[in-house]
Amino acid sequence: MAKKQFAVIGMGRFGSSVASALSNLGFEVLAIDSDEQKTQDVASIVTHAVSADTTDEDALRALGIRNFDVVVVAIGADIQASILTTLILKDLGVPKLIVKAQNELHGKVLSKIGADKVIFPERDMGLRVAHHLISPNILDF
Ligand code: ATP
Repeated sequence: MAKKQFAVIGMGRFGSSVASALSNLGFEVLAIDSDEQKTQDVASIVTHAVSADTTDEDALRALGIRNFDVVVVAIGADIQASILTTLILKDLGVPKLIVKAQNELHGKVLSKIGADKVIFPERDMGLRVAHHLISPNILDF
């Protein structure tokens, strides 16, 4: 079976971490950011890095985004760009869409427009740390 192909949109701390981890695990990763400098920063780590505004449907089509198995949207502060990007990706038929949310309301909107999984990095990591702290293997922390 062919290896899954991933695209990650938004090379902030979260997106670049996801993209480089997937790449280190041996997967093909397309990294996208509207900021040329951000794409250059990850160009040597991922399979392809391109600069594009993902609120532009034609730009996403041109990248063949619907051929990727999983797309991660890691645009944070610009909630409008995050929502528009998610909507377009859904319309284009991306099979699995994972989107980072800035807050609860943002997360709700993302779920309603079809995100398959919504991630709250700070909240989710806080939960993990708390669970880890009360686990019997606390000395491993
Ligand atoms: P983190 O906490 O993960 O560092 P953040 O929540 O602060 O990220 P931003 O820095 O606002 O998120 O966005 C992440 C990246 O998304 C930025 O590098 C930004 O250039 C990119 N980005 C924002 N809007 C778009 C867009 N329309 N198309 C493509 N990339 C975009």
